[in-house]
Amino acid sequence: MSSRSESHSDGIRISFEFFPPKSEEAEQQLWNTVEELSDWDAEFVSVTYGAGGSTKAPTLSAVRKMIHETPFTTASHLTCVGATREDTHRVIDEFLAAGVRRFVALRGDPPGGVGSAYQPHPGGYANAAELVQALRERGDFDISVSAYPEKHPESRDTAADIDMLKRKAENGADRALTQFFFDNDAFERYHDRVRAAGIKIPVVPGIMPIQNLTQLKRFAGACGTNIPSWLDERFDGLDEDVEERAKVAADVAAEQIQDLMRRGIHEFHLYTMNRSALVSAVLERLGLERKVNARAGAAA
Ligand SMILES: Cc1cc2nc3c(=O)[nH]c(=O)nc-3n(C[C@H](O)[C@H](O)[C@H](O)COP(=O)(O)OP(=O)(O)OC[C@H]3O[C@@H](n4cnc5c(N)ncnc54)[C@H](O)[C@@H]3O)c2cc1C
Repeated sequence: MSSRSESHSDGIRISFEFFPPKSEEAEQQLWNTVEELSDWDAEFVSVTYGAGGSTKAPTLSAVRKMIHETPFTTASHLTCVGATREDTHRVIDEFLAAGVRRFVALRGDPPGGVGSAYQPHPGGYANAAELVQALRERGDFDISVSAYPEKHPESRDTAADIDMLKRKAENGADRALTQFFFDNDAFERYHDRVRAAGIKIPVVPGIMPIQNLTQLKRFAGACGTNIPSWLDERFDGLDEDVEERAKVAADVAAEQIQDLMRRGIHEFHLYTMNRSALVSAVLERLGLERKVNARAGAAA
């Protein structure tokens, strides 16, 4: 499937990632964010799925609403950890019934969390490559998968990661979305190795605008993402200055994207953390036009 039309005159293509809300307040926050971000011409958006099915109902509900009530082309994340093949097929069928035709196919973290020993379910899909194959056998879906420029924490080495990415691509993945990273050199080295391995699908950088560096550091450790010391320097002394911190965060993400564009990358997957202001500030810095502005401009 995978249509890849140019969405912006300058060639940047963007997608947004959301997570399913766990409370009424979070629900309100999500839909406010979705409405505000619908000003931007995103190629698609995605909604995460708790490993082991822990967020199945809220993910399904969010995805259904996005598909039927927003302008966004919507993908649902799907994991296979801790599930039999039959369980996974039932979940896929529920998502298909909700109108989902795009998936981000993942293995998922083991129940003990990142770093705990992973045991494939004896009757389940052992990894994301097998899940991609199962999805491909069931229909002509658009399928994204994960990629790890700084290595998956469980992985022996980058070569093992690239082997897995190759299997996912051979089984029919349309693109890879990366774990977030801040070291563009590491991304470029990884990207070169991916291409040298004969993997041709787009590897789309996952960009994390930094809402809160302290919290992000805790999370980054578990994801295997390196936090370069220059980031500490950029945010130094800004703990109490919310406004300046937001400006620096938007600058940092926009500069990262601009640098990647100079290296020939034009698609970006933005981790929104269900908040719109910072993401919009990043897109403004990149010179993207809001759809409403573009329409107003065309009418003038
Ligand atoms: C873009 C993106 C979106 C994500 N969305 C979600 C989500 O919605 N829900 C969620 O729960 N998680 C999500 N994750 C996290 C992901 O589920 C975890 O990183 C998980 O540990 C691996 O899943 P995967 O699909 O990347 O696994 P795979 O692609 O199957 O494997 C990833 C890498 O881990 C290594 N590896 C896998 N298994 C083993 C093993 N047994 N021994 C040694 N090495 C191994 C391999 O080298 C492989 O390259 C996301 C990650 C990314 C990058």
